[in-house]
Amino acid sequence: MFSTPTGLPRVGRFEPVLNHIAEEVSSLTDRGRPADYIPLLAKADPQRFGMAVAEVDGTVYGVGDWRHPFSAQSITKVFTLALALSLGGERLWQGVGREPSGNPFNSLVQLEHENGIPRNPFINAGALVVTDRLQSLTSDAAGQVLELLRAESGNPGIDFMPEVAACEASYGGRNAALAHFMASYGNLLTPVPGLLAAYFWQCSIVASCKDLALAAGFLARHGTRANGSTLLSKSQAKQINAMMLTCGTYDAAGDFAYRVGLPGKSGVGGGIIAVVPGVCTLCVWGPGLDRHGNSVAGVLALDRFTTLTGLSVF
Ligand code: GLU
Repeated sequence: MFSTPTGLPRVGRFEPVLNHIAEEVSSLTDRGRPADYIPLLAKADPQRFGMAVAEVDGTVYGVGDWRHPFSAQSITKVFTLALALSLGGERLWQGVGREPSGNPFNSLVQLEHENGIPRNPFINAGALVVTDRLQSLTSDAAGQVLELLRAESGNPGIDFMPEVAACEASYGGRNAALAHFMASYGNLLTPVPGLLAAYFWQCSIVASCKDLALAAGFLARHGTRANGSTLLSKSQAKQINAMMLTCGTYDAAGDFAYRVGLPGKSGVGGGIIAVVPGVCTLCVWGPGLDRHGNSVAGVLALDRFTTLTGLSVF
């Protein structure tokens, strides 16, 4: 129905497809349920939906609630990973693997079998290792992630949400267990309490689809930041995209790759970012989640986007 956007006139080229997708999403009857492990997320309205597309030159399009800030949660793990790789390089991989886990994102079981080395940077244990390395390099991992998001999105208003950080801490027994367990294997460089605080602050960042689509632009620009400087080498950007494709959407990365065909990273706040290398980045938000923790409306919207435009990595 839509020709490939690269063949369309420049002005407004993604608008028709976004409007079409929003209409399809509006007739979705079962949108899943918001995350309920903390009360602040449980209150979100599953009827809300937003979607943004940011081209590599920073032109951005959106539909629905695309300017509405939501809890970015695990989407921030991509930005922590980018900073840890950028500042610390390959030695990161001594402490965290690069394989899909096949287990829930907060599982403890696999860690014991694998001697405290988490499977990948996007499950909680792996993200804790990445935050730990960034913390050891900068002493303020969460602040660095926030700065990166602000700079790349051009929105200085992106911020932490202290109430969410506090809730994460008070319901964070499992993350604390993961951190202490890894510390017992010698796989953390910084003290557990400070690491957990940094991780919870990072999870509490609130940003919109517009912000996050723009902020992830360096992944579509092969590592180049919005101001033209280099955050990652071309090869590091490729590595992060590959890991998003294989591990970015909890225990449903295979199904996401099948349906959407793009590197993606979801969060329990109902957001998902996705990358079309060389072309654009996307962010969708719909707070209702499926049983794996991915936004029902978000996955549908990305599935429709790649189907209608033909833009995917395959
Ligand atoms: N704050 C959440 C946790 O660590 C992040 C969950 C997520 O978005 O995957 O449990």
